[in-house]
Amino acid sequence: MKTTIVNIVTPDGPVYDSEVSMVSVRTTAGEMGILAGHIPTVAPLTTGIVRLKKEKTTELVAVSGGFVEIRPDKVTILSPSAEVADSIDLARAKEALKRAEERLAEKKADTDFKRAESALSRAMNRINVKEGNI
Ligand code: ATP
Repeated sequence: MKTTIVNIVTPDGPVYDSEVSMVSVRTTAGEMGILAGHIPTVAPLTTGIVRLKKEKTTELVAVSGGFVEIRPDKVTILSPSAEVADSIDLARAKEALKRAEERLAEKKADTDFKRAESALSRAMNRINVKEGNI
């Protein structure tokens, strides 16, 4: 089976670099499965899970938006943050989730709801990747 190289890069440096048989990402227009030979494309991403399918395994990476650049032999994902399951601190994500839920529940006039919702979705995404809830 044909493979494609996937690079996931954040401002802190590279997070993932491997050859996969298929990668799926969550773009703002919906889930997108990418195989080798895909036509060149650039698409914005939402917070979500990147699924990296290999011969026998599927690896998961949590990303918080950014862009995917697709070329026939290579997929590059640029995101403000990205974590493989092993590097996710579950307790930290659960605390972030709790903080965001409390902020949203308070309904204070000066609450930045968009920011709290983004924090909530990043935290839930990390929890899902860590716990393998896919
Ligand atoms: P927190 O409130 O816990 O900082 P956050 O969603 O605000 O969460 P981000 O701003 O998205 O955090 O990320 C800041 C940095 O911390 C990034 O490098 C990201 O990879 C890392 N990070 C955030 N949460 C976790 C986590 N639960 N486990 C591991 N790394 C994390």
